[in-house]
Amino acid sequence: MTSLTRRSVPDRHAGADASPGPWQETRGPGAGRNPVAPQDRRSPRDQGIPHPGRSPHGRVGPPSVPDKKDYERVSARGVLTVIALGAAAVIALWWYSTPDVSGLGGWATGAGEILGLLAGYGVVVLVALMARLPPLERGIGTDQLARWHAMGGRYIVSLVVAHGLLIVWGYALEAHTTVASETATLLTQYPDVLMATVAGFLLLGVGIISMRAVRRRVRYETWYYLHLYTYLAIALAFSHQFAVGQSFINNLAARFWWSAMYLTVAVLVLWYRVAVPLRASARHEYKVIGVKSEGPGVISVYIGGKHLDELSAEPGQFFRWRFLTRSLWWSSHPYSLSAAPGTDVLRITAKDIGDHSRALSRLRPGTRVIAEGPYGAFTAGQSGRGVLLLAGGVGITPLRAMFSTLPGPVTLIYRASSEQDIVFREELDAIAAARGATVYYLVGSRAEIGGDPLSPKMLRSLVPGLEQQEAYVCGPPGMISAAVEALRAAGMPRRQIHFESFEF
Ligand SMILES: Cc1cc2nc3c(=O)[nH]c(=O)nc-3n(C[C@H](O)[C@H](O)[C@H](O)COP(=O)(O)OP(=O)(O)OC[C@H]3O[C@@H](n4cnc5c(N)ncnc54)[C@H](O)[C@@H]3O)c2cc1C
Repeated sequence: MTSLTRRSVPDRHAGADASPGPWQETRGPGAGRNPVAPQDRRSPRDQGIPHPGRSPHGRVGPPSVPDKKDYERVSARGVLTVIALGAAAVIALWWYSTPDVSGLGGWATGAGEILGLLAGYGVVVLVALMARLPPLERGIGTDQLARWHAMGGRYIVSLVVAHGLLIVWGYALEAHTTVASETATLLTQYPDVLMATVAGFLLLGVGIISMRAVRRRVRYETWYYLHLYTYLAIALAFSHQFAVGQSFINNLAARFWWSAMYLTVAVLVLWYRVAVPLRASARHEYKVIGVKSEGPGVISVYIGGKHLDELSAEPGQFFRWRFLTRSLWWSSHPYSLSAAPGTDVLRITAKDIGDHSRALSRLRPGTRVIAEGPYGAFTAGQSGRGVLLLAGGVGITPLRAMFSTLPGPVTLIYRASSEQDIVFREELDAIAAARGATVYYLVGSRAEIGGDPLSPKMLRSLVPGLEQQEAYVCGPPGMISAAVEALRAAGMPRRQIHFESFEF
């Protein structure tokens, strides 16, 4: 079943409406049919579920974007500069505490010490990136932070391994003994070094299970809980830095600042990953108030709460949701808001792809929820440009929330592999009609459509003045990279393209 259908209000794009184009065609017997089962076509309000993103009068809310607080925003370049300056300070510490280096053994030891210091600093940076710090979450975005964390993790594991090898080799050369004998000495006579060695192997193990080829084969939860051994590794390795590290042994100030760095990040992790979500959940009293089927394998969960305006959540953002049922309480999963946040209700929409997402359909009203967030930098700026929203599959969820609230001209292109996979069709058409926006449904496989529906040519023909617009893309990773490439090829500058991946 294939269709390239268009729903629009002939206002801004009156000229484009009139011109014939492939997207105006509707091919196949099912095209244009509403894929939602009849019992699901009642509005949430008809089912007693409040509709977030609508005014109390049931109209689509006026397009508006909440103001972003500038102090909450940091730039990627700023953060990377601070990290690099920290690394430079670490090397300066080594320089200051090392009067002279001589011989191959001395150079090997010195290099090992520098790499060890950088690894000790790097693990703190990696943990800080994942500490859910609001300026980082809002300014840079969780998916970008996760990419930095993953890339940094690979460097840190390499630094730790190289540090261990160089130090043992350097000590052995300086002591005129063998590497094996020096290793035995270090492990048997220095308990802190033994603990650090165990920590090194733990980090290596975490690095191995995080490799893409291995990670694809293990359950997310298995990977996640094994990954938490990193904290144990950091704790085990801490003491050897002061016990045998030349930069710290005789330098009280260095020990103080190094400890302060570790302690600060530990407090931030506990604060933002544990205390803040618990406190917020107590304050907002999140509870499931309804579950609604949106189509085959897709459901929306409505979560009620108090004082939700205090969250300053923005369309495009997500929360990590922990539903307190017997089978779900132990894991929290990220889901984007699929409607603009209301003052007393939030909506998420999930596709059932695994244990957790499947279990959501069985949630009962009244189920208590712990929600961490809002997170994410996938939110609309105030550029004043026209906006293109480009959704693939269930990636429509954050874009649906943005679609009803973004000011100015908006075009939504929704790519789905079949009519049945289109979620929110009625809502999207209603929003488009209310705000004078255009929605294109690009449905079917490439073979069925007879080409690439997201080619630069197609995008340019669907969106006049494309290169002047801001684009927000959300969908499966393959679709995101293809769309970003096509937008670039169509002449859109990289800085105007924003995307959110549903994979960390
Ligand atoms: C920022 C963000 C926003 C998202 N928004 C939506 C949304 O609006 N609608 C929607 O349907 N899906 C969304 N997802 C994807 C959703 O989180 C996963 O589909 C869901 O967690 C799968 O869990 P599962 O147990 O059902 O499946 P599994 O089979 O266990 O997992 C499938 C894949 O989902 C990812 N995943 C699983 N558990 C987690 C977790 N706890 N944290 C992070 N990733 C995990 C992993 O990549 C895993 O390989 C979003 C993901 C992210 C990162």
